[in-house]
This record gives sequence, C-alpha cells and structure tokens, in this order.
Amino acid sequence: MGAKGLKYVAVDAGKAKARVGADKKAYTALCKKLSKEYLAGPQPMQNGTSTSVPMAQVLYTFPYKNRVEGQSPDAETLDGARIIESFEERGGGMHNCMTGCIVKCSNVVHDAEGNYKTSALEFETITLLGANCAIQSWEDVADLDRLCDEVGLDTIETGAALAVYMDSGGMEFGDAEGAKRILREIAEGTELGKMIGNGALATGKKRGHHRIPTVRGQSIPAWDPRPLKATGVTYLTSAQGADHTAGLVVNPGMEFADMPEASQNSQMINAIVDASGFCMFLMVNAEQVREFYSAYFDEEFSRERFYDMGWQILEDEWEFNKRAGWRREDDVMPKCMEDDKIGPQEVCFDVPHDVVQKAYEKVGSKDSFWETGAVG
Ligand code: SF4
Repeated sequence: MGAKGLKYVAVDAGKAKARVGADKKAYTALCKKLSKEYLAGPQPMQNGTSTSVPMAQVLYTFPYKNRVEGQSPDAETLDGARIIESFEERGGGMHNCMTGCIVKCSNVVHDAEGNYKTSALEFETITLLGANCAIQSWEDVADLDRLCDEVGLDTIETGAALAVYMDSGGMEFGDAEGAKRILREIAEGTELGKMIGNGALATGKKRGHHRIPTVRGQSIPAWDPRPLKATGVTYLTSAQGADHTAGLVVNPGMEFADMPEASQNSQMINAIVDASGFCMFLMVNAEQVREFYSAYFDEEFSRERFYDMGWQILEDEWEFNKRAGWRREDDVMPKCMEDDKIGPQEVCFDVPHDVVQKAYEKVGSKDSFWETGAVG
C-alpha cells in the first residue's frame, strides 16, 4: 500500500442501518445496561489517555532520551492535565471519536489563539514524541502530532525513530523545531526524511547505532518491558511485535511464573474485543462480550465455545507470522532492554526464553481469563 502511495481505504456506510441483534430485545437491553453501568461508575477514561503521564512516571514507564531512563524531568509540562486545563481558555474538549460512544476519551486540542490544532493527542504520542525525545512542552508535541497526521505517520514509530536519530548524534535531544523540520522533510522525500519515515529500526541501522528499541521491527511503545515484564512477554509473543494494544499487563513485580498466563489472557481479551467491534477503552471483559454474542446471534455461546473462538484468533495470527518467516528464535528483546537498567531497582528485561515461550501454550478457560478486562 505504502509503495503505491495509498494512505488509507475508507468505506462509506451510506444509509446502512446500525447493526441489530438477532434477539433484538435482549441485545438492546444489554446495550442499555452496559451504558448505564459505565456512566454510573468512575468513568476512568473521561480525561483520555494523556492524563496517564503521572502514573507512568511513578511506574518508570515514561521513557526519556531513547529509553535510557524510565522517568522524564518534564512530566509536569507534558502531563495531559495541561491539555485539560487549556480547554477553558482555548476551547476544544473531550469528544467521542466514533458516533454514539459514551466513553468520550478523545481530546480535541486548540492552539493559543483558539484554533483547532489536533485530535487526539494521546499518552503514547506525548511519551514517544515528547519525553523520549526530551521535548519538554505538550504544545510542541501537539504540533508534531498534527504533522504526523498530515504526513500519514504513526506517532510511536516516528517518535522512536527521532529519538534513535538524536541518540546517535544526528541532532540534539529536545530540539522540537528540528523535529518538526524533519517531519516536513518526510513529506518532501529528502534522504533524512526517508530514513526517519522508515522508522526506528531503519534509522538505527543506517546510523550504525547500538540502541534500537524495537521488537520484530516495531518500536516499543511507552509501556516499558523492563518494569512491566509481562507486557514484554506480550511484545515477544504477539503477532504484532511491540504492540501495547495486543495485551498490556500493568503489574510491576509479577513473578516470572505468572507472566505467560497474564500475557495470554490479555492477548486473548484484546483480540476478542478487536474482533467484536468494541473499543478497548470501554474496558469490557470476556464475560460481557460473550453475553453480547449470545444476544446478537440469538444462540447460546458457552464459555468453552467462546474461549475457543478467542484462542483461534491467536492461533491464526501466529500461523500468519510463521508463514511470513518469523521463528520462535526471533522472540528476543533488543539488547538495550537487557543492558540499560532503569529506576532505583535497576530493572531490565530478564524473563527467560523458556518462560516467554509458555505464552504460546493454551491455558484454558479459567476464572483469571474471564476476569481480565481489555486494556491498551
Ligand atoms: S472509547 Fe474508543 S471509540 Fe470512544 S472516544 Fe475513546 S477511543 Fe473513541
């Protein structure tokens, strides 16, 4: 697609009606119940992901300067709370990025003159284009986010590539204007622009740099596999490589022995949520999705049948990778995740390969799976 200049494919639903369940009454009742319960609860996503910065900082998963540290000295000026504060004077606010969504976790960001700047400015973008590049201000990150949208770039991959370039001496850490100039060069197709546009791995190889934080060619997102080792197990065993949306596990200090099951459960529920059309930020669990399936198709989906459907998704994805040439020996973290220790406890990714490989072994339908909520 990229080689042909194709950026995206849009399908116009036209006058197509919203989906209704085969058991319309039961399906509608479930929709109402879920909405009511969510709106009556704490609504954890009401300010969006950008306000996760303080929590990430505490957990040492707010990487700084190409991940040589797990905390940033700029957490205060990068915190999404500053974005929320800007709404009053500048306008913008929280909205739903899909019609009908009750979560409304997507922000609309305005500039100092009150003009639209970008949407949505997420935690991952603030981390990779901000903290990881030592760029201090959320407003500069908003400019970079907008440029990524215009050029058609992923903000995680682009932020990681810029940080590798900075770390290898190509430019100073914290040079926000330089970073914006490079993003424009990607659109212009200069040599530098092509290198950064091809991502962190391509940039690291071309620069001959030793610190390239990627798994299977994909840049590691904000959630760091050193304090969050079970998330690292996901990065190594999910078909997508270093993808936090494939199965995030925010449980620092977990024992090695518990990691494969935690990662597998999270990979399963996220695959199920993706396949069913829920947004993961509604944070439903497998039991809730199972109930929706039963009403939608008007047939009973037993726990065993539903679990097996979820497992089939993972197996199909692994098979795809196998046919694409990936091998189990490729399930390795980049050396910098083992060498660069972070935080007072000097954590690194040290989960043994045989423990990681257990994530491929079917655990089966257990309570721990049914209680796991989608998260990303
Ligand atoms: S919950 Fe999902 S669909 Fe709703 S606003 Fe957030 S990202 Fe968009």
